[in-house]
Amino acid sequence: MSTMRPTPETYDAIIVGGRPAGASLAMRLGRQGMRVLIIDRANFPSAPPVSVPFLMNSSMSLLDELAVPESEYAHDAPRLRHFFVEYKDYFRAHYAVSEVGGRDYIYTVDRERLDGCLWNHLARFDSVTRLEGAHVLSLERDTSGRVSGVKLRLEDGVEQVVEGRCVVGADGRYSLVARQAGARVTEQRTDVDTSALYAYWSGYAPYDADPTGIQIHTEGDGFCMIVMPTTQGRAGVVFQGRSDRFNVTGDAQTYYLEGLRRYPALWRRLAHATQVSSIRGIKRMGNLYRQAGGPGWVLVGDAFHQKDSIDAQGIYDALLESKLLAAALVDWKQGAISWEQAIERYEREALSATRSMFHATLDRVKREIYTELPSWAARSVLRWTMTDSEYMRRFSLLLARRIDPEAWAPPGVLLGALARGLTGDLRRLISSPRG
Ligand SMILES: Cc1cc2nc3c(=O)[nH]c(=O)nc-3n(C[C@H](O)[C@H](O)[C@H](O)COP(=O)(O)OP(=O)(O)OC[C@H]3O[C@@H](n4cnc5c(N)ncnc54)[C@H](O)[C@@H]3O)c2cc1C
Repeated sequence: MSTMRPTPETYDAIIVGGRPAGASLAMRLGRQGMRVLIIDRANFPSAPPVSVPFLMNSSMSLLDELAVPESEYAHDAPRLRHFFVEYKDYFRAHYAVSEVGGRDYIYTVDRERLDGCLWNHLARFDSVTRLEGAHVLSLERDTSGRVSGVKLRLEDGVEQVVEGRCVVGADGRYSLVARQAGARVTEQRTDVDTSALYAYWSGYAPYDADPTGIQIHTEGDGFCMIVMPTTQGRAGVVFQGRSDRFNVTGDAQTYYLEGLRRYPALWRRLAHATQVSSIRGIKRMGNLYRQAGGPGWVLVGDAFHQKDSIDAQGIYDALLESKLLAAALVDWKQGAISWEQAIERYEREALSATRSMFHATLDRVKREIYTELPSWAARSVLRWTMTDSEYMRRFSLLLARRIDPEAWAPPGVLLGALARGLTGDLRRLISSPRG
């Protein structure tokens, strides 16, 4: 909790939002001696309202750059090296996590711990002032209309105006900064919205013999569920599905349990388990980009770009965008480029770094959640593809951001998978004993 008041100085940057995007940006700017005020309405440690996150090894590499030690944010979270994708009882594919920066594992990280850890590390930077428990209420503008600061309400109810040479909206998917600045939505996909409910469970049965195997199960009916092993022997269990069929009309808890019961293979694992958290969830995950910035303001993280959680890329994108933005803001502060040039460069680089993955993710949602295949196609074409070793290797590389998302599954790879699958089936048929 903090009741401190920001000093009346003019900050180089006021950052609204102190989680992955905002905190990592503040660290990078603080490293360059820029005067930063970072504000969050939450008190740390705390988790964001919704997120049951895989922390990818690509994200950990970016945290290494910030000298945030893995032992602090991961603590007792198990290292997850495998995930199993099941399609009804038709087939099961075993994927290995692709190595990044010497790590061949990911975590289901405790967001309260991760975000608290990032917030604490801001104390390393003398030029960064942290303000928690403070709501940003609106943007302030100068006579030319340029954003020049924020009005905020401190924890004790006092309202105050703080001036900054720029204001950064790192305030998440419902960004107040974006709304107040009038940021345009520059690209949006509404055809593949999903919704999700999740809770934490303890005492769940391990997947086969591996308690740290991630289980992703679908019945090919527009829904899927994911078991994410995490700290203290618990697992996050997510029920996710296409939004047009996700009709939580009554009690969300009942809807969630009914959803999980659709998957006997999962339900058996939970037979002796206890749900140890209340239900959380999100209706209609947005898939969009906003205009990156304008006079005196700029967006980063989910405020700039948000997408379906199915490929678990949100934290990575937030950390990556903040790295690109920090470089542009430092050049601007040093007078090497104008504000307009800084925003233009940041937007171009951020789009180039994230946009093809955005579409790869949404194409996958369309293919694997929205498309209902006849059973013969799921048992053959889909199985041949999703259990093919080359396809699986490339998919793991995609999630690790080690392959161009536009080229991860070219026609040659898909045709090869089909040919190998068909040949394998024929061989088995021929060699199986008759009668
Ligand atoms: C169901 C679900 C599952 C997900 N799973 C994954 C996953 O497995 N892996 C992954 O990498 N990502 C996942 N994500 C995405 C991930 O949670 C986000 O991409 C990430 O949190 C974005 O970080 P951020 O810093 O941009 O915003 P946020 O984490 O949303 O932080 C924004 C901060 O801004 C503060 N704020 C907002 N408005 C104000 C205001 N007016 N005044 C002061 N403070 C304010 C908030 O308090 C908050 O702390 C998931 C998301 C959802 C919804």
